[in-house]
Amino acid sequence: MKKREKSAAAAYHISSKLRCPLCHESVEVIELKSIVCINNHTFDFAKQGYVNLLQKPVNTQYDDALFEARQKIICDAELYGPIHQKIAALINNELTKDALLFDAGSGEGSHLEKILDEVNDKKLTGIGLDISKEGVMMAAKNYETPIWVVGDLANPPLADESCQFILNFLSPANYSEFKRILTEDGIIIKVIPGSGYLKELRNELFSNTDESEYENNDTLELMKRNVNVVSEERITYTKNLDGQSLKHLISMTPLGWHADTEQFEAFTNAEDKEITIDMHIVIAHAE
Ligand SMILES: [Zn+2]
Repeated sequence: MKKREKSAAAAYHISSKLRCPLCHESVEVIELKSIVCINNHTFDFAKQGYVNLLQKPVNTQYDDALFEARQKIICDAELYGPIHQKIAALINNELTKDALLFDAGSGEGSHLEKILDEVNDKKLTGIGLDISKEGVMMAAKNYETPIWVVGDLANPPLADESCQFILNFLSPANYSEFKRILTEDGIIIKVIPGSGYLKELRNELFSNTDESEYENNDTLELMKRNVNVVSEERITYTKNLDGQSLKHLISMTPLGWHADTEQFEAFTNAEDKEITIDMHIVIAHAE
């Protein structure tokens, strides 16, 4: 089976949980090729194995080099391994029937792929959405199992109460849509950086500036105003990265984009460095 057909087949199995992004009516997946709604709005799967729902292309500040760096840091260096394991354990705990895991802002797809690997249960189907076509294309190239969608977070192609799990990993949220698509027993899993996140990078590049500290209070407050936060866990650890991985790290984060050449080299010429990961995993119900 070709990538296009595999991707369409995966969508076929969950088509009752999808909806048309244009008219919001129900859809079918036909001929292992297209998503079609009852008003005949039609979206074809690309041969690379994703579907693009945007009416016109959107330019983002993310490019292939950034997504490649991110993929290497997440999958090869496994910088976020303990976070993926924790989220997988949370999902396994609640996974009693067929369910969707919707990754809102999936980028190049590695977080979703790693979590699905850890959960390792066929009851769970992953669907990743991002507005960046470059990111979604890379996700489809590297990972076959999840359904990959280029789309708008403010208009995900998901029916009301269709997702038991929504993942929002270092990415902006859309709480009104999250509440609409979440099942009654569903949970939102939001990953927010803690004050120590990548502090080595920030200390070297932004010593004594505002950007030398992460502030997550606003993100958490906004979440608490919109959904019912039921638990919050902080996970902090360090991971040793070699010089090559340090280059990827600095390339993948907005913090690194503003670094000048001298700073970039000073940071990445080290043989290796201990890098701090500090994350809050916040769990919420819709109400
Ligand atoms: Zn339609």
